[in-house]
Amino acid sequence: MKIFSRSSLKSKNNLPYFEIPELTKLGWVQHAFLTRQGEVSLPPYDLLNLSDKNGDQEEFVSKNKNIIAKAFGFDSSRLILLDQMQQDQILLLKGPAITLPFPLEYDALITNSPNTFLGILTADCLPIFIVDQKRKVIAAIHAGRQGTALYITAKVLKKMEEEFGCSSIDLLIAMGPSIGSCCYEIDEKVFHSEWEHFSTSRGVGKWMVDLAQINIAQMKSEGIKEDQIYWINLCTHCHSDLFFSYRREGRTGRQLSFIGII
Ligand SMILES: [Zn+2]
Repeated sequence: MKIFSRSSLKSKNNLPYFEIPELTKLGWVQHAFLTRQGEVSLPPYDLLNLSDKNGDQEEFVSKNKNIIAKAFGFDSSRLILLDQMQQDQILLLKGPAITLPFPLEYDALITNSPNTFLGILTADCLPIFIVDQKRKVIAAIHAGRQGTALYITAKVLKKMEEEFGCSSIDLLIAMGPSIGSCCYEIDEKVFHSEWEHFSTSRGVGKWMVDLAQINIAQMKSEGIKEDQIYWINLCTHCHSDLFFSYRREGRTGRQLSFIGII
């Protein structure tokens, strides 16, 4: 597993972002894990909020979307943002011509269609990208506590195999920033016993949970090896200057992570 820290932060048009060089090197994939830094939303959504479902003004969200699209050189109308239901539904978009089935009540997307940018919004949840180097198929996953409990990452990997003939050996997987086990305490009402191996008990009915490691275990169960995994291992709760964190702030924005075939 290759782990990236703050020092790998890059910038485009004054927008800080993280990328995985091994994905960029492929030449046909464009991706970025954006931060909260940039323009134009006001507190508590400052600054680069991409969610219009948490109380921010639509005008600001739309401006932010355009700022990102311009910086990375794609048409903002090609960016697909899901409703993100905290469930395990997967949207399949098979190219070349795709039509979107509104409402977009899904938490993951898979596509082989060029010029289709898959966006994931997070403020503590884990954004995951999967790339099939051989078949030119990409996936984006919103893995929160509930989606993780429903094995969404394992389900996406299975779906990629069923629908596109993907083989685990050809895949590269990138995990973005999320709340770390340093800050993610949950109680017994929502804890799952199979998470015990990835959690530290905090006494009666409370655990510090490692969301990323639980998802890595799902990848391994589907045949993924550690050297296929790349991880921006930064806690959204700890790094308040870079990231929105629902746990830390409650009412706040959502940062964008996107991937597309160019
Ligand atoms: Zn933390």
